[in-house]
Amino acid sequence: MRTLAEYEKLAAAAHGHLCAGQILGLRMAIFGLELLGIQEPEGKDRKRLVTFVEIDRCATDAIPVVTGCRLGKRALKFRDFGKVAATFCDLEIARAVRVAARESSKALARELFPEICNRNEQQMRGYRVMRVEDLFAHQWVRVELGPEEFPGYKGARRVCEECGEGISFERQVVENGRTLCRHCAGARYYTPL
Ligand SMILES: [Zn+2]
Ligand SMILES: [Zn+2]
Repeated sequence: MRTLAEYEKLAAAAHGHLCAGQILGLRMAIFGLELLGIQEPEGKDRKRLVTFVEIDRCATDAIPVVTGCRLGKRALKFRDFGKVAATFCDLEIARAVRVAARESSKALARELFPEICNRNEQQMRGYRVMRVEDLFAHQWVRVELGPEEFPGYKGARRVCEECGEGISFERQVVENGRTLCRHCAGARYYTPL
């Protein structure tokens, strides 16, 4: 593990700026790994971890900086619940912990640094020094997902009988005996023009 200051540099480069959300995300990930006892996320523990994130905001960009979990490696999962929280899953010993930011941390940053007017600056300073239990609540959880959700899954690749596009990781839908992609089965997020 690196120091928070080192992680801050890496996070600023990855995210485009350093902000309070980055610091929150970094500390959240450091705490999650501490709870799991994972010490070398970039070394020998590289393949042990999958992280679920619950918001597409600044904190989320900071989490892979610590965990090494990336979307393209299937080790970062996005569940869009609009919450500053993440669940860290240790695949090796099948346990997981969910860490959530406390609503009270903003007010606590105000109490700690009332002289700083800039809100982001105030929270950055606060989130660096606050006790981890003031920043986060955590809960041990079980994440019940099939093997197709995790890195390393090797399954057959299907082809949609409607649009001809390939489908991986068992995301096909079988309707009236036809193998379809989710788009063609009706779950489109876009409308063809
Ligand atoms: Zn940001
Ligand atoms: Zn299709």
